[in-house]
Amino acid sequence: MLTQNREMRAIGAWNWTLPAWAGRLPDGRTYNTCPSAGICRHVCYARHGTYTWPVVKAKHEANLRFVLDDLPAWEQAMISELGAEKFRRVWIRIHDSGDFFTDAYTRSWLRVIRARPEVNFYAYTKEVARFRALVEPAPPDNFLWVFSYGGTQDTALDPEQDRVADVFPDEESIAAAGWHSQEANDLLAVLGPRLVGIPANRIPHFLKRLNGRTFRSWQAEVDAERHAHIRSGTRPALRVIPGDQPRLPAQSEGPSVLEPHERAA
Ligand code: SF4
Repeated sequence: MLTQNREMRAIGAWNWTLPAWAGRLPDGRTYNTCPSAGICRHVCYARHGTYTWPVVKAKHEANLRFVLDDLPAWEQAMISELGAEKFRRVWIRIHDSGDFFTDAYTRSWLRVIRARPEVNFYAYTKEVARFRALVEPAPPDNFLWVFSYGGTQDTALDPEQDRVADVFPDEESIAAAGWHSQEANDLLAVLGPRLVGIPANRIPHFLKRLNGRTFRSWQAEVDAERHAHIRSGTRPALRVIPGDQPRLPAQSEGPSVLEPHERAA
């Protein structure tokens, strides 16, 4: 179940992946693996390129099906796999894409992590409230995480206190903001300085949508506009973000693919 892409292989780490955001499984079930995704889904690396290749997508969907169909069996299988000698003292990145999409799934991961103290785990997450409730009160010693901006819970983050990651247009803007790039090694996101900068993927239409902003500032614009509409009692105009799919009824409530006035290309 654990794999290595080029980036993970370079740092000796392995990862576990779910399909990104919302979709429909071949059996017709719908899902939302990123219920707190905000603007990030409009420039999601995992909804682009190799991630969309049928064989890759099928593998990620098989991972999700296992979790959805029999979570206890998945948990035991993951604990068993992690018992292999090759995983001793290495790092596992939980979610190359996807997130801790339910409490039950998060608790299951916490049991896996505690069952394998000889393995190190890390994750990016936008599930701020879930982590505050389930993880922060008694975090396992072998688990580190970083909250990432660009989600619907951004305002719950405190960059003075929390370890946070933001996507910037480029390395220069990371340095100018006084943040610290994780580009050289993804583990810097949890082992380096607390303010983590991620240079945006060099995908032209994503960069155009980002429009020189960070994920945090883009999400703040969207949130402010939504609140202004709520205060004024007006109905926000809806704009379809190019590349998004029609909304699917997800298993857990996620954001609509129709956003008020987002500055899409
Ligand atoms: S949370 Fe990550 S994987 Fe999910 S939609 Fe956002 S960028 Fe993509």
